Amino acid sequence: MTSERRPLIVGNWKMNTTLAEARILAYNIVHLVGVPKDVDVAVCPPFVSLPIVAEALRGSPVALGAQNLYPAESGAYTGEVAPNMLQGLCSYAIVGHSERRAYFAETDEFVNAKVRTALEYDLTPIMCVGETLLQHEAGETTKVLQTQTMGGLVDVEDVSMVVIAYEPVWAIGTGVAATPDDAREGIAVIRSTIADARGQDVADSVRILYGGSMNPQNVASLLEQPGIDGGLIGGASLNVEQFIALVRAAEERERE
Ligand code: PEP
Repeated sequence: MTSERRPLIVGNWKMNTTLAEARILAYNIVHLVGVPKDVDVAVCPPFVSLPIVAEALRGSPVALGAQNLYPAESGAYTGEVAPNMLQGLCSYAIVGHSERRAYFAETDEFVNAKVRTALEYDLTPIMCVGETLLQHEAGETTKVLQTQTMGGLVDVEDVSMVVIAYEPVWAIGTGVAATPDDAREGIAVIRSTIADARGQDVADSVRILYGGSMNPQNVASLLEQPGIDGGLIGGASLNVEQFIALVRAAEERERE
């Protein structure tokens, strides 16, 4: 089944890898991935490793992404990284990851500012949304996804330029992925929320990924669900064989 939305497999290395490890991981990915057929691939190393990984990715189809950005060009924001520092170096920027929402108190309003900033600086935002376990068990998933999706897209003119990752918080780093049905339903809620606000054509153009304990064992059952356009991968992206297996699974889906 070939979808018009090109699948995207993104590795989020989080706060892992030294400079030396990042370089080796990037070289190994480039070496093994070759030229993925009909699939986009990106890796998001820690900020300090971006230049070294950019060097390793040079000439390969693997794109580079940042894990975050600050919505201002410069100023007294100790420890933050501005979009103009990433422009030209990165293609993507993850924004609103649940770890940032939880540990750094990022609100939908702040995530929205980051989404708009990323677009302004030619970075494709990968905006993460997802419910916590408590919200899931309380039956609030739909409401949370609607609120985070619309909150993050306020005043975004071209929503088709945004990638969204549905990441149920309870599935991240736990080894317990969402069932294919839950992942499909969550993504359907996000897409219909966009359709209601911006029209079906826009909703159909947006790539929506699943994230949360995706691995070589569960990837096929997740990617075969309609509407799931790829994956945002944490743990398995640090292991080159596992990451490549996820890329191959996305290629396989496009062949079917
Ligand atoms: C993530 O951090 O975005 C993620 C999906 O992590 P993991 O694959 O380890 O659950």
